[in-house]
Parts: sequence; structure tokens; C-alpha cells
Amino acid sequence: KASQEAEKRGWHLYLVGGAVRDLLLAENQKQVLLEDIDLVVDGFHKSADVGAGVELAKALQKIYPGVRLEVHGQFQTAALLWHKDPDLGSLWVDIATARTEFYPYPAANPEVEASSIRQDLYRRDFTINALAMRLTKPRAGELLDFFGGLLDLQSRQIRVLHANSFIEDPTRIYRAVRFAVRLNFEIEPQTESYIRYAIASGIYEQIQGRNGRAPALETRLKSELKYILQAPYWKPALQLLAHLEALRCIHPTLELDEKLWWEVRLFDRCLQKFDPQKTLEHWQMRLEVLIAYLAPEFRSKVANNLQLPVDSIERLENLDKAENNIIESLPKLQLKSEIVQFLRQYNLQTLILIAVRNSRIIRQKIWRYLTEWSHIKAHLNGNDLKALGYKPGKQFKEILDALLTATLDGKIDSRESAEAFVAE
Ligand code: ATP
Repeated sequence: KASQEAEKRGWHLYLVGGAVRDLLLAENQKQVLLEDIDLVVDGFHKSADVGAGVELAKALQKIYPGVRLEVHGQFQTAALLWHKDPDLGSLWVDIATARTEFYPYPAANPEVEASSIRQDLYRRDFTINALAMRLTKPRAGELLDFFGGLLDLQSRQIRVLHANSFIEDPTRIYRAVRFAVRLNFEIEPQTESYIRYAIASGIYEQIQGRNGRAPALETRLKSELKYILQAPYWKPALQLLAHLEALRCIHPTLELDEKLWWEVRLFDRCLQKFDPQKTLEHWQMRLEVLIAYLAPEFRSKVANNLQLPVDSIERLENLDKAENNIIESLPKLQLKSEIVQFLRQYNLQTLILIAVRNSRIIRQKIWRYLTEWSHIKAHLNGNDLKALGYKPGKQFKEILDALLTATLDGKIDSRESAEAFVAE
């Protein structure tokens, strides 16, 4: 339908980006599930005007009234959301008009047809993401491969389209790593050298806002980091980022040395244990371990730059104080009740962060606290006290606290001994 609507208006319609890549990669599979499709509209004899993508999306919405339409003003792109059946999930279709305004193709292209689409593809990140499939007649189904994307797909290479790519947009470094690890591709050696050059030239300073603030870049870096850190392949991706020295984009001093590598993995095992339902944002907690590895004075700025949620920023800001307090006090505390009383002031995330960063003595006490001691309950609760005839009042809390302390320290081990304790 989309092609027919485009043809009616004398436009070309192309499937572009990840969908073409994934279709070609899955050539031998019977079915490919696409959740996100990017379409680009282009004029036939001249460029389509900027609103073409939106016009096409509106025409499609008339044909499929149940579909949600969103128009994104700045670049006049439209997104259509189809709610498919529950097994297949939903389908996003983004429709844009071929754009040339960003990184114009340097040489004027005499071939009128596809010149705008070529320029649109030229501003993309990697050759494998710069393929297009024509959906309109004539030659519907034809693959447009201006930059050797097909060959790179076959030889499993991540290759940029031009030398300045990472300087223009450093978040592409993270995208290169993401695709390389996810698809099991290699970053092509020349592309790797462009990454290293961009990093060596201090490109990350743009992200950290020193050359004037660049919030859009930070937001995109955060979303690439999220993508990577929540993926099942986050560990090899992190290692590859470190190998390329790209963690400097988070902070110039950040390095994945043995100790940090050990900390992130231990932290992850703790998260699996204490938050199996994933009520916490695990990707964000992994990022917090990385930020916590920085010297205390850098943590707040990095967390703010990456626009982490307030609780996360606060945790990182207060980490140093909490850690010093724990290092100072915890080794001296021997009674379980004292340890519970002391550690109760900290939340799970802070305690795991501190546990993985510190000595065995501290780690073991925090571990025992989280796995056992924090779950121990007194044998009587407030209702039981009422039932025993005690009147609720100020003393209630004191009695309950004393009961818990005695239970933790092994002086009470049954309901009977608890009742006797209260009577005494
Ligand atoms: P995924 O399957 O992970 O969604 P994708 O290739 O669809 O992969 P998107 O992030 O959805 O990735 O981007 C869609 C397309 O937009 C990409 O294929 C690429 O052509 C282009 N693109 C996205 N981000 C950039 C960027 N930073 N620089 C250049 N082109 C980009």
C-alpha cells in the first residue's frame, strides 16, 4: 500500500537501514520478524519536498485507521505504530523524506534518479546500514548499494563511509561496537583506526561538554550505552569498547582494568541474586559501577552529564561518604544486631556497589547482611504484643527493637523465649 501511495504521487519509496541489513542477513531463514522499519521517500525526477514522508504517512493512516501516527516536526518525519497480534508484538514504521542537509555528498551526482537517496544513505553510519531496497516500480525489489554494504555484510565487516565519521558523531563508536558484537562482525581495520584517531584527538571532550555543551550528544551516548549495557552481549561489548579506549567518552580517566572488570562481573552476579525480577534498571546499575570507579570528584559530573535519574546521581554523589563510613565502622562491629542496625541506613544498590569495591571483610559482612541477617525477624510483632495485653505506646518500639536485637544475637530462638524476654 505504501508503495502504491508513493507511486500515485510520482515518488520512489525505499526500505532503508537496519531492516535491509537484517533481511539480507537472514536470507536463508523462512521468516524474519521486523519490529522497526525505516522508509525513505524520494522524488522521481526531482527531490520530493520535505513534507513527502509525512504526507505518505497520513495517506496510510487513512487506509489503516487503527494505526497511531506521530509527526516529528524538526525533520518532518512521521512514525506509524501498528499493534500487531500479541505474539508478534508491534511494528513501528518510520517514514522520512530523503535528506541531504546533514553531510552532503561532496561530488554532484549527475544521475538524477536516486541522487537524493544516495545522499541520504551517505550520511548514515556504516556501509551495512546504508543499503536501500526500492519498493516502488519500476525495478521494485532492487537493492541500492552505493558503498559496498553487501560485500561488507558477506565478509562481516563494520565499515564507515568516510574518514570523518566518528569526528562528526562520536556515538557511532558505540554503535560500531554494538553492531560488531551483536552481529558477530569485525570492525574493519581502517574503521578501527578512524575510531582510535577520533579518540586520540580528544573527541570525547565534545560529549563531556567542555567544548560548549552538547546535550544532544550526551543523550545519544546515554541511549547507546543503555542499548549496550542492557543487551545479553554487554560483557564482550564492554571489553571491545575498552580495547578501543572508547570508555574515555564516559570519562577520560575511565579504563577497564582487571579490578574494574572483576567488579562489574561480581556486581552483576549480585544483581542477579538480589534482584532476579529485574525491578532495578540493571543497565544503569552497571553504568554506576563504571562511574563509581572514577575518582570521587568526577562522579557527580559524569552522572549529571549522562542525565542519570536523580536517585542514581545522589547515590554516586554520596558514595564516597557512605564508603568511608562503612570502611571505618563495619570491621569493628561484631554483633549481628550492631551490623544490622548500622547497615540498615543504606539501600541495596549502595551496599552492593560498596561490597564489590572493597576488602573481603567488608564484602562478607555486607553479603551476610543482605542474604541472611536483614531478613531475620523477631518472634513477636506489634499485634502479638497487643494480644499479650501490652498497650501500644512509646515503649512498644523499644520492646520490638530489643526483641530483634536479642533475636539477632541468638538470645531468643523461639516464641516462648520471646514472650519470656518481654515479660522480663
Ligand atoms: P537496530 O536493529 O539496532 O534498531 P538499526 O540499524 O535499525 O538497528 P537504528 O538506531 O534504529 O539502528 O537506526 C536506523 C538507521 O539510521 C541505521 O541503520 C543507520 O542507517 C541510521 N543511523 C542511526 N544512527 C545513526 C548515526 N548516529 N549516524 C548515522 N546514521 C545513523
